[in-house]
Amino acid sequence: MPGSSEGGAGSESYDATPYLPRRGGLPAHRRAAAECRGCPLHEEATRTVFGRGEAHARLMLVGEQPGDQEDREGVPFVGPAGRLLSRALLEAGIDEEGLYVTNAVKHFKFTSDETRKRRIHKAPSLRETLACRPWLMAELRLVSPELVIALGATAGRALLGPSFRVGADRGVPRPLPGAEEGTRVLGTVHPSAVLRARDRDAAYAGLVADLRTAADTL
Ligand code: SF4
Repeated sequence: MPGSSEGGAGSESYDATPYLPRRGGLPAHRRAAAECRGCPLHEEATRTVFGRGEAHARLMLVGEQPGDQEDREGVPFVGPAGRLLSRALLEAGIDEEGLYVTNAVKHFKFTSDETRKRRIHKAPSLRETLACRPWLMAELRLVSPELVIALGATAGRALLGPSFRVGADRGVPRPLPGAEEGTRVLGTVHPSAVLRARDRDAAYAGLVADLRTAADTL
């Protein structure tokens, strides 16, 4: 069992690599990811939430991690943030049917409130994000999209490195390091950040504008 120190520099490594299948497509990877013990997040979460959608999508969306509802249903982006994202995609003229949607981290990280009735989202550490990155890289290799949209800082850091900042780096397509030639990545806010924003209308408009830029890039 890998170490359980959260985000710290424990002596045992966090790494999903040993759990990846040597061959096979998305279904084989989805099955293998269900058994991943590459970091401690599997201990409290209900299940692995792997990506879904078109196997050879031109556009891939990468979020942070599953939320409470995604953890229960085993499907990414089905909760409130997912519903907001669907609306924004529609407004930006992007057909959701043709997408592949996944998260940088495949297990739900949370804390419980005092009554232990509500599970409260907690952002994954960089260490956990990097541990889970082999699954994301495998999805990128298998789907081979033309453009990846990184939704929020965790996805941006997983794809573009730890210096990625949403505020400074959003809305501009750039080459995706280590991916197939021609694949680009565009960062924007996570839809849950729009839900939490003080000026929700402005945050939503910013998300739609970035998605329109993505649509024009294809
Ligand atoms: Fe494996 Fe990722 Fe889950 Fe950690 S979060 S156990 S690396 S699938």
